[in-house]
This record gives sequence, C-alpha cells and structure tokens, in this order.
Amino acid sequence: MLPSASTISRRLLGRLRDVMAGGGSAQDRLDKVVTLIAADMVAEVCSCYVMRAGEVLELFATEGLLKSAVHETRLRVGEGLVGDIAAHARPLALADAQSHPRFAYRPETGEEIFHSLVGVPIIRGGRVIGVLVVQNKSQRQYTEEEVETLETVAMVLAELVSSGELINRDELAPIDGNAVLPVRMEGVRLTAGIGIGVAVMHEPKIIVQKLVAEDPQVELARLRDALNRMRNSLDEMFEAQDLAFGGEHREVLETYRMFAEDAGWRARISEAIQSGLTAEAAVQKVHEDTRIRMSQVSDPYLRERLHDLEDIANRLLQHLVRAGGSGGTAAGTELPENTILVCRTMGPTELLDYDRRRLRGLVLEDGSPTMHVAILARALDIPVVGRVKDALVRIDTMDPVVVDGDNGQVFVRPSDDILDAFAANLETRAVKLATYAAMRDLPAVTQCDQPVRLLLNAGLLADVPQLEATGAHGIGLYRTEMPFMARPQLPDVWAQTSLYSKILDAAQGKPVVFRTLDVGSDKLLPYWDSAGEDNPAMGWRSIRITLDRPAVLRHQLRALVRAGAERDLYIMFPMVAEAAELIKARALLDMELERHRAEGGKPPAQLRVGTMLEVPSLAWQLPALLKHVDFISIGSNDLTQFLFAADRGNMRISERYDVLSPPMLSYLRSITDRCLDAGVQLSLCGEMAGRPLDAMVLLGLGIRNLSMSAPSIGPVKAMVRSLSLSRLEDYMSTLYDLPDHSVRDKLRNFALDHGVQL
Ligand code: PEP
Ligand code: MG
Repeated sequence: MLPSASTISRRLLGRLRDVMAGGGSAQDRLDKVVTLIAADMVAEVCSCYVMRAGEVLELFATEGLLKSAVHETRLRVGEGLVGDIAAHARPLALADAQSHPRFAYRPETGEEIFHSLVGVPIIRGGRVIGVLVVQNKSQRQYTEEEVETLETVAMVLAELVSSGELINRDELAPIDGNAVLPVRMEGVRLTAGIGIGVAVMHEPKIIVQKLVAEDPQVELARLRDALNRMRNSLDEMFEAQDLAFGGEHREVLETYRMFAEDAGWRARISEAIQSGLTAEAAVQKVHEDTRIRMSQVSDPYLRERLHDLEDIANRLLQHLVRAGGSGGTAAGTELPENTILVCRTMGPTELLDYDRRRLRGLVLEDGSPTMHVAILARALDIPVVGRVKDALVRIDTMDPVVVDGDNGQVFVRPSDDILDAFAANLETRAVKLATYAAMRDLPAVTQCDQPVRLLLNAGLLADVPQLEATGAHGIGLYRTEMPFMARPQLPDVWAQTSLYSKILDAAQGKPVVFRTLDVGSDKLLPYWDSAGEDNPAMGWRSIRITLDRPAVLRHQLRALVRAGAERDLYIMFPMVAEAAELIKARALLDMELERHRAEGGKPPAQLRVGTMLEVPSLAWQLPALLKHVDFISIGSNDLTQFLFAADRGNMRISERYDVLSPPMLSYLRSITDRCLDAGVQLSLCGEMAGRPLDAMVLLGLGIRNLSMSAPSIGPVKAMVRSLSLSRLEDYMSTLYDLPDHSVRDKLRNFALDHGVQL
C-alpha cells in the first residue's frame, strides 16, 4: 500500500526539523531543505524564492535547476508563474506549466525540460515572503494532498525566511511601507499627559517555537482541550463585557464565538495537525491562510472581521502555549523602561498587573473616558488615548511611540523633530512637577488668606499613599466599588472590614470619605445580573440598587462601622435623587450602628454622614435634605450629564456643553448659597475640581473643599495660592445672566489678567 499524503508530510516534516535544528548557515540549511523536499516528493526540481525589498522574488536555493541561477534569477511579483503565486498568495498546480499564459521562460535556470509545476506561497504575518516550487519532467497531476503537504512545509520554511538570517529583517517589512514610515493616528483623549516610549502589546502575538510534532493524536487532544478552555473563557468574557458595555461589544463577541465555533475552521486545523504540525503551528497556518483569503476581500465589513479573526487565533494560541507554561499578557514579561501599552481594551485590574514605574502611556482601540481603565490610568497619571482605529495592526512591538493624551493623538515611529518637540514638552512638565512637589507642605491658602481644602479622589488601597506624597488634606471621595469590580464575587463583610481598616490605617488620621457602592451604568459587577437597560445611566444603578438590595448595603455599612470603631468615620451615599432615599439609607446605617453596639463594638469617635449631589432633583429638596446630612459633595460628572441631558460617555456630545457656562454656574451658586446658609459642609468631587481654571471658578462660587485625582493637587494648589477671591467674586457676578454658550474664555482672560496661575 502506498503511504498516505499525511504520512509523507509527517516523515518530511520530521526530516526538515532535523535539518533546521542542525548546524550550518541559514543558506546551508535552505539548500538541504530543497534537496530533501525534492527527494521526498519524487520531483526533479525544488526551488525556494525569497521576497526581497521592492517586491522582487529572488531564487535562493534549488535542487534540479542550474545552481548558477541562484541569487541571479529574479522575478517581480506578478511576473511568471512564481510571481503569480506571490501576487495572489495562493497555490498553483499545473501539469503543463509551459502552456500557461503566465509562464515566463528563464533560460539561465535550464527549466525548459520541466513540464509540470506546483508552487505555494510562503506566508508570514499575513504577507507573502517567498514562494516554494516543485517541478517534474513529466506532465504530473499533483494531488490536493501534495499541495497541502507543500503548504505545510512552506509554513516551516517561513520561520527560516523570516528569521533574519537569510535576508535582513528590514527587507521583510510590508511593501506599502506603512510599517516603516511615521504615522500619526487620531483617537480621543481619555487621560491627559504626554508619554514617550516603545510599544508593547498587552496581549503579545505568540511566536510558535515548536512546529513539528511526533504524534498527531496528542496534538489533536491538545487542540480540543485548548478550544474548550477558550470557549469557557469567551463565555465568561461575553457575560461580563456584555453587561458592562452592550451594543458594540456584543457584535464583536458574537463574531468571536462564530469563529470559535466554526466547524470548517476546526477541521482545517485538525487537517494541518494530521500533516505533522504541532497544534499551535496548525492554528497559525490556518490563520495565515484565512488571513490571506480575507485580505483579498474588498468588503470593509469583512475586512474588519479580519481583526477579530486575528484575536481569536491569538487567543487560541495563548491557550495552547499557556498549557505549556508561558503566555498571558505582557505584564508577566520583562518590560522596557518606557513602555507604551497597546491593546484593544483592558480591564482595570489588568492595568494594575503592570509595573507602574515602567508605563509611559496607553493606546486603546476602544475606550471612553468613563471606562474604568481610564479612571484608573488618570489616578496613576498615565496618559491614555482611546478609539485609535487599527492600533493593533499599525503599531508593531518595539515601535517608538508618542502618546499625546492632551490632544488625543498617537505618533508611531515619529520623526526626530516630533520626538524633540515632545521631549521638550516633557521637560517643561518635569520642571513644573518639581515646583508642585516643592509646594507639598505649603498651605493651600489664597492671596486673601482663605484656606482651601484639597482632597484626593481614590479607589484603591494603592492610592492612599498619595495623601502623603501630595500633602492632600484627606480623601474626599473613596470609590468603594473599585475593589468590588476587581473580584470574582461580592466581597464578604470580613473582607470589606479588613480593606476599610487598611485604608484608614494608611490614611494615618487624615479624613477618608467612603462612598457606598456606586455600581450600575458603566460600572458593572461581573457577578451581578443587569436588566440590559436602554438607558443605564438613568437606570437601576447606585443607591437605587443598594436600597432594593438592602442586605448588600447593610453588609457594606457593617464593615465600615466595624472598621471605623473609635476613629472618625465619613460615609457618603451616591446618586441620591430625593431626601427620602437618603433617609432610608441612614436608617440602614442606624441599624448597623445599633447592631455593632449590641455586639459590644466600639462606636466611631465621630460619624459624619453625607450625600453626593449628582441628580439635579435633589437641589430642589435641599431644605428638607440638609437637616439629615453633615455634608454634601457635588458629583459634577453625573450632574452635568443630567443637567444638560448629555451622556458623559458619548464622545459626540459629552463635550458639547461647558461646565463653565451660565446655567451650570447659576445652578451651582444656588446650591452653594443654601449649603452655606445651613452650615452644611460642601465639596465638589467631579473631574472639574481637578482643572485649575474650573477649580478657580468653584472657589469664586464659595466652595472650599475640592476633591480630585492626585496629579491635580499640585496645579490646583498653585492656582489657589495665586488667587485673590474678592475680585473674582465681583467679576463672576457679571456672568450668571449672560446668554453665552460658555464663559470659559472670559474666565481664562480674567485669570491671566490677574496673575492667577493656571
Ligand atoms: C461624579 O459623578 O461626579 C462622581 C464623582 O462620581 P463618579 O464619577 O464615580 O460617577
Ligand atoms: Mg457619579
């Protein structure tokens, strides 16, 4: 019985592996490889052409053609049969090659005596990097299996060609030059700042090390196992992401599933394994084939799916390689000193896996400013640009990158001029930072001796040391939902108590305002069901959830009361829309205080209870509310979106209305006046508190407590110390009734005219 094609290819692959592993130069190994292939396939000729710069295919090795033609014979892509295979990135098998209209006779090779030809492209990273050809004297009909065998061999050869040993790696760069020219990419600003560094892929593309396998059955079992693991993790991701984002992500994830479940895709991988490849090499081979096919499709929708396909193949490879003990995200690898992370999207906890000291910036293909990774990056002072189309495709590992978070742009492989300009900008910032650091122990007092409290917004235990570093007065907003989001299940009372105690310990007596669980809208817990609402920002979120599920709120309050024993305890409720909600929440707190007392626990040294004011309705119930609270903190992020009916996560409109506008200022003024009259402490903890000009205006309104992320403390303190309030208040009184869209420019001019440091 004749051996089957897969047996031939397995035997051939085994021999190839020995040659590849053996010594000698790359050229020596290539020479041996073509001889082996010719013998194994019972062919008179086997030749390997390698793509050189300028789209030229050069004969690099041959068995059967005249040796003198090696490194002499060159064909342009599209020229002759070899050029045709490269141009279309597809195999060609012809019993009578010479009668083919594309046949280009090359006398120096002596190929006139060979009639049949089979050739396959050598592909790497979705690009043709060479062509492998077999020829026979007879008019041989090559079988499909033989073509497949040759494709499998070409996959192994791709390693050798792309290794950089045969030709310089630069020559393998894409022929459109996109990979080497500087590129400026547009995105949206998620976190301000400038980052200069080199690109690191958050989920690195996997380099398959072991290509040839001994036992296909073992490889098939590995594939099955990896597919199962991938399916489970996709299901988990699907649920979590779907809850969190809906719409767009659903579509992407559905596509993932479609690919992952595709029977044809799996069958092609299994076939490649049967022909002797390892499971990971088989996935890579099928991936390359599909990629080539899809890149020839002009339909933009299908082309976009190419990225999903890349993701899914990479994901499957991760599962295969991880089983062998490596893989995962780049967080576990040795990072360059100045890393710019590039990814489609990332969870907040994933960012925390990285060594902050090495991170200079983050580039996301997705993203909105309210995404948690963006909030977290802001706290860590890492510039982020989001919605950068095709970032994963257009940026290569180790490419020099500048992330301009201020203007929402990314420069890849920037010219020296651009690099110099940004480096100078960074230097100016460094000088400024040093000035802010020097101000750490100076009081935040205006020129007219008005003290101002500058507080921190925090959400992680790791943020607390910033109190010391910045000299902030305390934590004005501790977002307790962050640790809830980072865990696979709801933390129990014990875990929460321990965390809150640690936070209070770390704060060393400085006040910490704990805001109770504020989930829903864009902040969803992976383990909690959400109703898939049309308008989640105005939906079942925050205190609405915790009042409907009082056990959850009681557990949190119990933990806070326990952690706050004999200490100053500040508790704040979010998204309160009416006084009755606050009263209900306080009643639950009273129950927990009573329970704590009954259990013999020590009461807090001082308890202060407050509410966020971020739903406009609450402002019209202040007289009733103020009796029940010790303090109020304005959440300008949510408040603005509700006041202007402009979704804060929708980039199209989120910046359409200005917080420095007559309606917003009048609204804030009326809240401030009433709180001051009632003697209730008022603060503001939305993003506007951290912007010097906006913060100046808040002081002009009478607000004296501002809570912001750590990097803003310095700039805001500099503004405070340069400000004289009486003139500002006079000036602002002329603004409230103006019909203007924004009074930002007027206020900026005022600041410049009066020497206010912005
Ligand atoms: C706000 O809405 O302004 C606020 C501080 O809360 P968050 O950003 O957490 O919704
Ligand atoms: Mg809010």
